[in-house]
Amino acid sequence: MTSEEQRGRHHRQILLPVIGPAGQERLRTGRVCVLGVGALGSQVAALLVRAGVGFLRLVDRDVVEWTNLQRQVLYEEGDVQAGLPKAVAAARALARIDHTVTLEPVVQDVDASSIRALIEDVDVVVDGSDNFELRYLLNDAALDLGKPWVYGGAVGTQGTTLTIVPGESACLRCVFPDPPPPGVAPTCDTAGVLGPVAAAIGAVQASEAIKLLVGDRASLNRSLLWLDLWSLEIGRIPVARRADCPACGRGERAFLEAKAPSRTVQLCGRDAVQVSVYPRPELNLEELAARLELLGAVQHNPYLIRFTVDGYELTVFRDGRAIVRGTTDPAVARALYARYIGM
Ligand SMILES: [Zn+2]
Repeated sequence: MTSEEQRGRHHRQILLPVIGPAGQERLRTGRVCVLGVGALGSQVAALLVRAGVGFLRLVDRDVVEWTNLQRQVLYEEGDVQAGLPKAVAAARALARIDHTVTLEPVVQDVDASSIRALIEDVDVVVDGSDNFELRYLLNDAALDLGKPWVYGGAVGTQGTTLTIVPGESACLRCVFPDPPPPGVAPTCDTAGVLGPVAAAIGAVQASEAIKLLVGDRASLNRSLLWLDLWSLEIGRIPVARRADCPACGRGERAFLEAKAPSRTVQLCGRDAVQVSVYPRPELNLEELAARLELLGAVQHNPYLIRFTVDGYELTVFRDGRAIVRGTTDPAVARALYARYIGM
């Protein structure tokens, strides 16, 4: 493919006065981290790859499941059947859209020890996460590193988004000082989500990322944009930096400085518990699969093992992390992990 043909690819976008040839070049050299490649993240990643952003890091801890296909536009049935991690399946789909884009899939659970390395070498971070724990951690790390990021959320028929430029605009804790207690906020696992809402919020997040990359900060969304696609109400709630904000005002980094991450996390609404091991081991999945095949049904690919025994399903990743399905009790999950994987 010649560079002349490559230019043709983005012709309709270069025609836009707000982008032009200089903006297109900034997109080509731009670097974005998409944190979570679910409904919002797949939408954002597809739009940014098509826009010509040169580098995308795709971070996700999960495996593609049937319930994802309703709204997570990068995935298809074959990804579920192959048991592919979302980050890997997303990178494959995006490479088919534009093979010249550099894609870096990261199959990892993000915590206080890993977040800096994931965002320090990018220009923009897009929040595609499904939980507040990760958003507050990202807010802390982004303030420390001065990284702009685009918050997004979609639950039910409603979605919200806010663009955060550290030091200039309201941060997440200026607007929501503390995360909602577990079990209080509705999640898409418990309340459901309308696919088009994720598409709408993801589209706003992608256009905000494009504005940041081309350097048009004056046009950014600095309010809490809110929409309901069923009642067709759309609003913008003004927000501003607060001097008494614990994070950007008083300089606290409560989430980044949290003690060692917990070893087990209940995955809300999914009848599953995630078990992590610190320090992270490097498992030999082939050896483990051979051992587990004597005890139950095993499916494996280069990224993970799926082991079914006694009505439980353990998905084990190379870094020792496991998602134990069939229980919401951390003690049961830890016991199964100890029995079959070993601590
Ligand atoms: Zn703040």
